[in-house]
Amino acid sequence: MTTTQHRLPMILDEVRAVRVERLSPSFVRVELGGACLADFGVDGPTYDQRIKLVFPYAGGSLPSVADADQAWLSTWLERPVEERGHMRTYTIREVRGSGADTRLVVDFVVHGHDGQAGPGSSWAEQAEVGDPVVLLAPRRGEPFGGIEFAPGTASQLLLVGDETAVPAICAILGQLPWQARGAAFLEVPTAADVLSVVHPEGVEVVWLPRDGGPVGSRVHDAVLTHLGAPVLPVDEPVEVDPDLWETPTYSSSGEEVDAPVTLVGHDLEGLYAWIAGESAMVTTLRRALVRDLGVDRRQVAFMGYWRRGVAMRS
Ligand SMILES: Cc1cc2nc3c(=O)[nH]c(=O)nc-3n(C[C@H](O)[C@H](O)[C@H](O)COP(=O)(O)OP(=O)(O)OC[C@H]3O[C@@H](n4cnc5c(N)ncnc54)[C@H](O)[C@@H]3O)c2cc1C
Repeated sequence: MTTTQHRLPMILDEVRAVRVERLSPSFVRVELGGACLADFGVDGPTYDQRIKLVFPYAGGSLPSVADADQAWLSTWLERPVEERGHMRTYTIREVRGSGADTRLVVDFVVHGHDGQAGPGSSWAEQAEVGDPVVLLAPRRGEPFGGIEFAPGTASQLLLVGDETAVPAICAILGQLPWQARGAAFLEVPTAADVLSVVHPEGVEVVWLPRDGGPVGSRVHDAVLTHLGAPVLPVDEPVEVDPDLWETPTYSSSGEEVDAPVTLVGHDLEGLYAWIAGESAMVTTLRRALVRDLGVDRRQVAFMGYWRRGVAMRS
């Protein structure tokens, strides 16, 4: 038997938009295809599998990946931005096709109507069939990481997100076992951004259009009410870590990961909460769940997907 030797344990290659669909005012769906995707694969459901995409610098071309090896990744950041382009993180909403016809579906939020659009949003807004982008994604049979959804034996799920987490929540909902129970709260910019989603009957799906309100304004009260907690007015947290990432196995703030169980006063045993979106929104919900309600940090994943006013580092 012959085995193919790859330079890298992940897919790092150019792919192209093979289908572009405007789903709603805030979402553009792009199917990415390319021969390299024949090697795509993860062990089990993709859930919230994240990938990286590199977009060209305005008017420029993509960095070459023809001979990419480990050094490509370590030296990419050192190159001038005109050459390296911009790397951003997205979620695999769905995998379609198989073999060389495998396509990854990515739902992009288009934002920046206030003049703050970043390269990811701008690329999606203008995407046409044939447009290239560099993809970093899992290669079948190789460890890659990037799936945070890990409910273990939880009996109740709580999925919460703003529009950037809608692709991940919808992907998770579509891959849950039919007997799963819980609720999903999805805050989106407008009522026209409510999408149809496949989900188990026992998981309630609540869409929360904020219609001009600040990000996180609808989701906070809805989640606390759902948990039976008092809904008090909240101020924007003073300190927001734009890279907030608190999961049962990693803490961006350096907290002890295996802290003892501190469940007090609320019947939240069996709960697993997955919360992602704008970092201040996630920080506020984290404070409410972990500090005020005493939910064990091992039952939660809090992830800052973006920070208002801060471009993703790349
Ligand atoms: C694990 C993970 C998975 C993600 N999955 C997805 C996904 O599937 N789809 C998706 O669209 N995004 C997703 N995101 C979020 C996305 O990476 C960020 O929104 C990113 O900043 C977009 O890059 P950009 O080039 O458009 O903007 P940037 O250049 O990063 O930012 C430019 C400006 O736009 C603002 N900004 C960034 N995002 C938004 C937004 N959504 N709304 C309003 N203002 C914004 C920034 O605050 C900044 O002021 C994910 C993030 C992570 C960490």
